[in-house]
Amino acid sequence: MSSPKSPARPFGSAFSSPAKKHLGQNFLHDRSVIDKIVQAVNPQPGDRLVEIGPGQGALTFPLLDRHGRLTVIEFDRDLVGPLTEMAEQHGHLEVIHRDVLQVDFTALAAEAGPSGDEPADDRSGRIRLVGNLPYNLSSPILFHALDHAAAITDMVFMLQKEVVDRMAAGPGSKVYGRLSVMLQAYCTVSALFIVPPGAFHPVPKVDSAVVRLVPRPASGIGVRDRTVFAKVVRDAFGQRRKTLRNALSRICDPAAMEAAGVSPQARAEQIPVADFVRLANSLVN
Ligand code: SAM
Repeated sequence: MSSPKSPARPFGSAFSSPAKKHLGQNFLHDRSVIDKIVQAVNPQPGDRLVEIGPGQGALTFPLLDRHGRLTVIEFDRDLVGPLTEMAEQHGHLEVIHRDVLQVDFTALAAEAGPSGDEPADDRSGRIRLVGNLPYNLSSPILFHALDHAAAITDMVFMLQKEVVDRMAAGPGSKVYGRLSVMLQAYCTVSALFIVPPGAFHPVPKVDSAVVRLVPRPASGIGVRDRTVFAKVVRDAFGQRRKTLRNALSRICDPAAMEAAGVSPQARAEQIPVADFVRLANSLVN
């Protein structure tokens, strides 16, 4: 992933630090892309913004300029130092040095933000997540966020384009799979725009894309038991070339599928999200 010629201090970075491949570090330096992400986030007064993986601050400081306050979660100690120094100069930046997968977003949302700001409107007690995610951790971060969906207003993430394609795919698409169904059951997924490799240093080998996820209200999700739902979806796509009758034989018989209005002869890749929800709900007493 490393590029032969990286700009020494590209636009957007508040300081420079050598990129670490194992932490998925590809730093953004394209000003127009940074501006588009900030516009997509479009912070509103009272929003509690939390950035995952601020890196050298490419998104952090433009977001701070626009919104005035921000919490960031960064795992790399070498980046946390300079970020913390900058936070000391800028009282409205809070730096959390932790693996994002260990961060309890629900607890974070319940706390006061930087400078003790308390959310005061209908978004009260919730956070907005933003980040150019480390691509090696994108699925775990997405599933971790789903576990805390009730504490999250929305998420604007940069990911590999191929992952965004899978997240947004519908039945019948070659890339419709477990990620599509799990995310779309709990969130609306909107692919926003594609970002070419040249927007980063080091230059990645793949295109990236920015996506917005908006958790559905708990009342509108319809999934009665998250564990049962996750198991149905995992088993169905674990053997995606098999009919549901065969792929789900350990957890559900054909008569139960028929009763839930789902054909046992169909394959997972043909089944809409709502049908997966209905089938899983029919298995819950
Ligand atoms: N936001 C910066 C940008 O756009 O230039 C950096 C993005 S870089 C793709 C991903 C960032 O996530 C890096 O700063 C990396 O250190 C951080 N990171 C990697 N693993 C992490 C983890 N488990 N928890 C928190 N941050 C992590």
